[in-house]
Amino acid sequence: MEDYELEILISEADIERRVGELAQQISRDYADEDELVLVGVLKGAFVFLADLSRKLSIPRVIEFIAVSSYEEGSTASNSVRLVMDMRENIEGKQVLIVEDIVDTGRTLHFLVELLSTRNPKSVKTCALVRKPDRTEIDATLDYLGFEIPDVWVVGYGLDYDEQNRTLPHIAAMKPKG
Ligand code: 5GP
Repeated sequence: MEDYELEILISEADIERRVGELAQQISRDYADEDELVLVGVLKGAFVFLADLSRKLSIPRVIEFIAVSSYEEGSTASNSVRLVMDMRENIEGKQVLIVEDIVDTGRTLHFLVELLSTRNPKSVKTCALVRKPDRTEIDATLDYLGFEIPDVWVVGYGLDYDEQNRTLPHIAAMKPKG
């Protein structure tokens, strides 16, 4: 997209409030457990994971995993590929996959299947935003921040060709004119 403008879809204040609510809910749900392994999906989830993890009131460790489902820009490819694995052995552990955005659901489905083969105690999923109109695979989301329409969004960790990742809010990219 050469010439575009950004329209704020979710404000910084709304994100902060919702991330706080999700953290409270997760802290309650895992209150009786030893430790929660938070697995952030790179690169997009790094901001969400940083904020969410710091608001939790339960013991937690941070891991990252990277997959590739979009070759470049916003063109969808059909396959999801593991690009970087996490270090932690998750056997017998409680795992929470933390995603920035769920679009078709393929990435989340792939990750749940992959991590489930490693014999964790449980695998749950958390995403900041989801585009319900785009769902192809109904991967279960245990925790969700917001639902948004079918638009390309940037900010709060999300990019377009590495641009606009560090905006404090989530904005829709609209072609100009
Ligand atoms: P899915 O596998 O659910 O189709 O796609 C998930 C991945 O697609 C996300 O982790 C993200 O990398 C990318 N994606 C889908 N929609 C958007 C969007 O609107 N903005 C950005 N920046 N990435 C998106």
